[in-house]
Amino acid sequence: MRVVFLGGTETVTGSKYLVETENTRILIDCGLFQGYKWLRRRNWQPLPLDIANVDAVILTHAHLDHSGYVPVLYKNGFRGPVYAHYATVDLCWVLWTDSGRIQEEDAKYLGKHNLSKHEKPEPLYTEEQADKAHKLCRSVNFKTKFQVGDISIELTPVGHILGAASVVVEADGKRIGFSGDVGRSNDLLMLPPEPMPPVDVLLLESTYGDRLHDNTDPLQDLAEIITETAKAGGVLLIPSFAVGRAQLVQHLIVSLMDSGKIPRMPVFLDSPMAIRVSDIYRRHNKYHRLTAEQCARSEQIIEYTQSIDDSKAIAEQAGPHIIIAGSGMATGGRILHHFKHWLGDHRCTVLFSGYQAGGTRGAKMMQGVQHIKVHGEWLPVKAKIRSLDGLSAHADYQELADWLANSKLTESMNIQLIHGEPNTLETFRDFLLANTKFDVDIPDYMSILRV
Ligand SMILES: [Zn+2]
Repeated sequence: MRVVFLGGTETVTGSKYLVETENTRILIDCGLFQGYKWLRRRNWQPLPLDIANVDAVILTHAHLDHSGYVPVLYKNGFRGPVYAHYATVDLCWVLWTDSGRIQEEDAKYLGKHNLSKHEKPEPLYTEEQADKAHKLCRSVNFKTKFQVGDISIELTPVGHILGAASVVVEADGKRIGFSGDVGRSNDLLMLPPEPMPPVDVLLLESTYGDRLHDNTDPLQDLAEIITETAKAGGVLLIPSFAVGRAQLVQHLIVSLMDSGKIPRMPVFLDSPMAIRVSDIYRRHNKYHRLTAEQCARSEQIIEYTQSIDDSKAIAEQAGPHIIIAGSGMATGGRILHHFKHWLGDHRCTVLFSGYQAGGTRGAKMMQGVQHIKVHGEWLPVKAKIRSLDGLSAHADYQELADWLANSKLTESMNIQLIHGEPNTLETFRDFLLANTKFDVDIPDYMSILRV
């Protein structure tokens, strides 16, 4: 077999690996490059392969940096199939169509304000193309082998988010593993990652290859922040990612209320996307820790605001309340409208619940800026800015090493470190070389590995 690294090298985005045998070609993951402009530009460059010759795409999970390029393949003539776990297929429809809609809106905005060097800026793909691409998806189960040409494929759950899997491909008497994004054994929402089956080569994610998560109790922290904000008579604004984080935060708030650890107050989930995703988590509850009753309880207690009118009506709400809304790094979404109301009020708190990438509003607010620009208007930041650590859905380097130790891997296995920033990859390689007997490499973008 041959593996071509078409993304996910030297960066945490754009995961895309071509696996080839004499007769079969498949892509493992098909993600968008995100973040810096020089990376995003790669989404517009043609892949160095004939898309018509790709027999199938296999997705580890639904996050756009692993799945969001499939509509581009569709646009360029690919007609499938795309294999992924049932829950991943459901999540992909929400994520891809939302991504298509945002790209159409961005292209329109750039055109209207003459901000593009192109006369008529085009979206990378449209909502309609995303919807059509989704029809290529075929749902598969965990731990059930299936075949594409002469390659046998199996998905094993790895926590992280609903439907997330590691993938093992087998052909020519060799086995290659793709870790996908690996979750944490003590995750409050997801089940622990299952051990990696034995493989000859493992492409291992390295997102937190140079970091250890702290051990604070997020439930305790959340209770304190909610109680303090309520006592001050303020509003708690929680910018949240739609997949995973919004569901966990709802559950934590409801548990705290039901156990009497925080006062009862209105809670709004003001994100149509997170509402749809919450429904998918409820339907697939056997793949995470929450029971059907716990999911139903969140829906009972929390007010889901779908329409713009319902969202606007939240502004009429008097007294302490909680608003969970996208986006997670405050780069867009309905949370910005609530910022306009409440950011200048010292009684209020903004609680970030996840990773804040450099350059985003979230990162700037965490650094303590006094003013922040929203829709062209400078807003004073008088609300308290807090963050909830301990909710990360990615294993840190010790947790990754523990996962490897719990898997039945041979000492001679070769590890290819992917999905990390350059410094992180080097630090993680040194850690693994010092603490394990595995052979460890860092592949280059577009490089080829023969197995
Ligand atoms: Zn992910």
